[in-house]
Amino acid sequence: MAHTISDALMGDKGSTPAIHSLEALLANIHGMVYRCLADTAWTMEFVSQGAFELTGHLPSELLGQHAIPFDQLIHPEDREHVRQVVQDAVDHGRRYELEYRIRRKDGVLRWVVERGSAVKYVDKGLAILEGIIQDVTDRKKSNENLLEAERRYRSIFENAIEGIYQSTMAQGYLDVNPALARIYGYDSPSQLIEGLRDIGSQLYVDLNRRLEFMQIMDKHGIVSNFESRVYRRDGSVIWISENARAVRNEAGEVLFYEGTVEDITQRKLSEAEIHFRATHDPLTRLANRTLLEERLEQAIDGARRNGKCVAVVFLDLDKFKYINDSLGHQLGDELLVTIADRLRHCVRESDTVARLGGDEFVLVLVNQINEKTVEKTVQRILSDVARPWVANGVEIQVTCSMGVSLFPAHGCDSAALLKHADAAMFEAKRLGRNNSQYFSENLDDAAVNRLETISSLRHALKNHEFQLHYQPKCDLATGAVVGAEALIRWQRPGRPVVGPNVFLPLAEDAGLMEAIGEWVLHTACLQNRKWQDAGLPPISVSVNVSPLQLEKDSLLPQITHALRESGLAPRYLEIEVTENGMMRHIERSMQTLRRLKDLGVRLSIDDFGTGYSSLSHLKSLPMDTLKIDKSFIRNISSDHQNASIVKAVISLGHSLGLKVVAEGVETESEYRHLQLIGCNEMQGYYRGRPVPAQSFSMAYLQAPTHAMPAA
Ligand code: C2E
Ligand code: CA
Ligand code: CA
Repeated sequence: MAHTISDALMGDKGSTPAIHSLEALLANIHGMVYRCLADTAWTMEFVSQGAFELTGHLPSELLGQHAIPFDQLIHPEDREHVRQVVQDAVDHGRRYELEYRIRRKDGVLRWVVERGSAVKYVDKGLAILEGIIQDVTDRKKSNENLLEAERRYRSIFENAIEGIYQSTMAQGYLDVNPALARIYGYDSPSQLIEGLRDIGSQLYVDLNRRLEFMQIMDKHGIVSNFESRVYRRDGSVIWISENARAVRNEAGEVLFYEGTVEDITQRKLSEAEIHFRATHDPLTRLANRTLLEERLEQAIDGARRNGKCVAVVFLDLDKFKYINDSLGHQLGDELLVTIADRLRHCVRESDTVARLGGDEFVLVLVNQINEKTVEKTVQRILSDVARPWVANGVEIQVTCSMGVSLFPAHGCDSAALLKHADAAMFEAKRLGRNNSQYFSENLDDAAVNRLETISSLRHALKNHEFQLHYQPKCDLATGAVVGAEALIRWQRPGRPVVGPNVFLPLAEDAGLMEAIGEWVLHTACLQNRKWQDAGLPPISVSVNVSPLQLEKDSLLPQITHALRESGLAPRYLEIEVTENGMMRHIERSMQTLRRLKDLGVRLSIDDFGTGYSSLSHLKSLPMDTLKIDKSFIRNISSDHQNASIVKAVISLGHSLGLKVVAEGVETESEYRHLQLIGCNEMQGYYRGRPVPAQSFSMAYLQAPTHAMPAA
């Protein structure tokens, strides 16, 4: 019985059919079966047909004494190792297994695996080696590819910016990459795996979100772009987006989850910011018109359900434009922010405060019981807004006018409520500002709709709807009427008279101020000249010029023209400008004022004391008259502070050679007091309200002018 191939092949040399079939069998084996002597040249005694495929040499080229020694085929770098292993096997009579490179006849290097054993060959006392050598180059290559692929995947896993994990169904992590550890605020993947044992309760801010995740996973086996808020290790909250899938075994059972995590906090913040900007006013961070309308709709829906009422408060700052122009836009903005904060504090969390632009605010007060509860808030707003505000060391006070409409009494949709609140606000302005008005059906819609007002203003000049009223100015020493201030009024047929404080700002916005100003100048000059022509005692007429007019190049030619057309001597025309008006573009204003002065026109500083320029500026201005603002005259006989300010202003004015006029004198005691402290002239309701030209001449110019008590 043959023990080895060699026994079978070599024992009885190639004689039996069994041996033939064995040879055929060996020839079919992939690889080279061999038998050789364990001599230095490894002299081959048998090689199978596979030799050709493996080495490119025919078996005959490898067999016998003069053949190519097999070890010459082995790559020189591997030769020594192969020899050692084989020698070792020979020494111990054991099997060997080797992997090394050979060079084929065509020069190509191939990886081979050799498995064989050393057998003592009793005959020659030499050992015999028998085995098989197989080409494993392809397998090795695909193995290497596999390893490489795995290495690459590992590197992606390790270096990914996204967090990657495998987690168990039972809420723990199996594996996470460094990025996930970083995202969740852990020092390392292992620290995360250790620290986060219960994903549901430790990680998710909203446990329901985790449950949803599980449900989707259960149903679809995959979750994509799943956004949730999670806690980092330090307790801070971030937004993440997850993509995950369930990994199953062949039986379809879920083994674990595997997924990626992206930190989308920054994106969420930007989204939130974008949404915020779309719905808020950037300056004050109050709701904008879009959000206001949305909230108002909600409020109306709510009120329909709970039977309570909603108040819409339209709020407009008084004379904001004036403050903004004189203080500069930066302080103007600061003022708006301050007012916004105050408004926020006046209302409840559930109410809405919005800014529509400019100095227009709208408040939506919800869950109101009745007008009384609304009124409480409205009053609080009035007084809170009017609280003095200090900017650049100057105390500024603004007031506001408010219009209120109520749901359901004044309208049943947001558009009607807003429109009616706006109308009521306009009414508040008309009634002298710093007050609030409720909408009422008899508020003439047309007179109160501002847009409509602006459009009607455009036709007012040509429709002769403007009128000048004249208010007497009288000498405090003699009581004689020495002048008249021309004050514009707007009277549309069948409508209430509108005062300049209401429509002039609108006219300015609409670019109509220049034309209106020109009309005032002409009318006033012409009127004064008419009085003089009628033989009435000559007085001076004062015309107000707004800051905007003062800045225009057209003012000087307009005045010259008005004087020429009317034939009025320049000394009977006085131009009133506010100190803020002059300060706005001081260089330019100064030039215009000097030219006017050269013309012989008188110049007066209006509303003195309400501005923000210093008294020292007065010296450099070419003024004739200083009009102390009415707010200082109020209660002058009892208010010591006001009294001393007025006294100081009078003496300062006198020292600069100015005539001092007190405005807004309403009572006899104020009148007497001013007489006593040496004020030159007065103007105010005490002596007379502004009236149409004809009434003026009848009341103050026909009769002896010494109707007032003299000093
Ligand atoms: P102003 O120049 O300070 O005019 C005086 C204002 O005080 C007038 O208001 C007048 O009616 C009011 N007044 C007079 N005496 C008293 C009083 O004893 N007590 C009180 N509380 N008020 C008194 P009016 O007519 O509503 O004018 C408001 C402002 O509109 C004027 O303030 C002036 O700045 C401006 N204005 C009026 N007419 C014109 C105009 O033709 N052109 C320009 N640019 N501005 C004008
Ligand atoms: Ca004036
Ligand atoms: Ca004034």
